[in-house]
Amino acid sequence: MYKDIATPNRTKEILEKYGFSFKKSLGQNFLIDTNILRRIVDFAELSDETGVIEIGPGIGALTEQLARRAKKVVAFEIDQRLLPILAETLSSYSNVRIIHQDVLKADVRKVIDEEFAGIKDMMVVANLPYYVTTPIVMKLLTDNLPLRGIVIMLQKEVAERMAAKPGTKDYGSLSIAVQYYTKAETVMTVPRTVFVPQPNVDSAVIRLTKLSQPAVFVENEAFFFEVVRASFGQRRKTILNNLTSNLPNGKMFKETIEQVLHEVNIDPRRRGETLTIAEFAILSDRLLQVFQ
Ligand code: SAM
Repeated sequence: MYKDIATPNRTKEILEKYGFSFKKSLGQNFLIDTNILRRIVDFAELSDETGVIEIGPGIGALTEQLARRAKKVVAFEIDQRLLPILAETLSSYSNVRIIHQDVLKADVRKVIDEEFAGIKDMMVVANLPYYVTTPIVMKLLTDNLPLRGIVIMLQKEVAERMAAKPGTKDYGSLSIAVQYYTKAETVMTVPRTVFVPQPNVDSAVIRLTKLSQPAVFVENEAFFFEVVRASFGQRRKTILNNLTSNLPNGKMFKETIEQVLHEVNIDPRRRGETLTIAEFAILSDRLLQVFQ
């Protein structure tokens, strides 16, 4: 059995050996609790047939737990200083490959095709850098990757927004963007004490299970998301006022928008946060006829 990386002593030893200093700007908060890492991996339901993409391996704490349970792990790491460290800490795992790249600039589909040929079960598992959580998740969802799902640690407040239901204070365009593609569940909350350095926010693990097809069918996806964003422009405003202010030329079409809302049985005085994804789909399909 190998010595786990994610203990306070081993992590300290590795960081001191390499004289590593954390870069806050890269969201570097490393996990030092093996139990939490194992639970994250449990939520991903890996088998020896699963291929895993990790984002930001750090010194390899999560990577080694993944390598023990998956067929192969490919991890994107932006910080060059971590490469020699990872080469040492993960040297006993032949099923790990590190790619030195900003994941936001990576062609993840090409990496899946090249690195995971023949593997049908693909997951993303990561303790994300918090400064880019939302762009990373949106990239993974909109690039139409062949994934079963995504299990990630992120800021608790962002996890709550992703998994929020209509009518709650956290529900907004991020909830709809995520729930259009996935079933979203916050599966664990994590105290800040299990990281070095400790972040100044609490964390959570969210599991996003890809739906076999989007949650609703819409005529024009880009317009659907435009209507959603417009509807949440200012949370205190009614849906009618938000659509009028935030859709291009909305003011010109105020009466028509009001008429469309009545036609699709949405009271123009409601707030965006009360509409379900299905209601947004019906509304945007009908508004498309006016705006295109
Ligand atoms: N997985 C490790 C752990 O759990 O201890 C480290 C997680 S730490 C929160 C985030 C990691 O993401 C850091 O290693 C950081 O250098 C890396 N990172 C930050 N921005 C990145 C990006 N755009 N692409 C790839 N990796 C990135």
